[in-house]
Amino acid sequence: MQMTKSSLAIILSKLRAFETPKFADEQYTTDSEIAATILWNAFMQENVKNRTIADLGAGTGIFGIGCCLLGAKKAYFVEKDANAVEIMKENLQKMKKMIENCKTEIIFGDVKNFGTKVDAVFQNPPFGVKKLHADRAFLEKAFETAPLIYSLHKSESANFLEKFADEHSFALKGRQEFAFPLKQTMEYHKARIKRINVSCFIFEKIQQ
Ligand code: SAH
Repeated sequence: MQMTKSSLAIILSKLRAFETPKFADEQYTTDSEIAATILWNAFMQENVKNRTIADLGAGTGIFGIGCCLLGAKKAYFVEKDANAVEIMKENLQKMKKMIENCKTEIIFGDVKNFGTKVDAVFQNPPFGVKKLHADRAFLEKAFETAPLIYSLHKSESANFLEKFADEHSFALKGRQEFAFPLKQTMEYHKARIKRINVSCFIFEKIQQ
């Protein structure tokens, strides 16, 4: 099947999402249109097809599965929550035929224990709203793991992120902004759908 950005978004929208996300881990599934936009951009920049990628804090697997659909060679799904892994397995099973040319490997555990090097990392880490600096551990791991990182954070963190990246010899290469819909799945979200400004920050290792 010839993949387009909109067909990718449609397929990703059919994946099962979190139904009872865990409050403390800030679990939510990235909106399929947003995931497709990020992945399509990465694909057009030749950073997905035939590449090995890691989806850190993979949740229900939307980024890793999206990479597989766009021709990635191998995808690692790193996730510490057993319930998420169960849904992810179901999603991988559902997509089995469409992603048969992509090797997939689920790493059940904390991202800090992931030790494999890959071409690119995709991640939508906890934003650190509930656990202060939860996103830093993800970024530090991402900097160790790949020379190219697609990472979602609150847009307002931009200054901190650029500085933090610079300290790890990474530079901001691009940025895509979104009004990120958070469905009312967590007790501290009062409105039915609240939108927060989130950006996909693209960091690239500075060549020494
Ligand atoms: N990537 C998915 C899920 C985002 S929510 C998506 O975009 O839809 C963040 C995910 O990170 C949750 O599934 C949570 O369980 C997981 N997580 C949080 N801290 C983690 C850690 N230290 N190690 C591994 N996974 C973690």
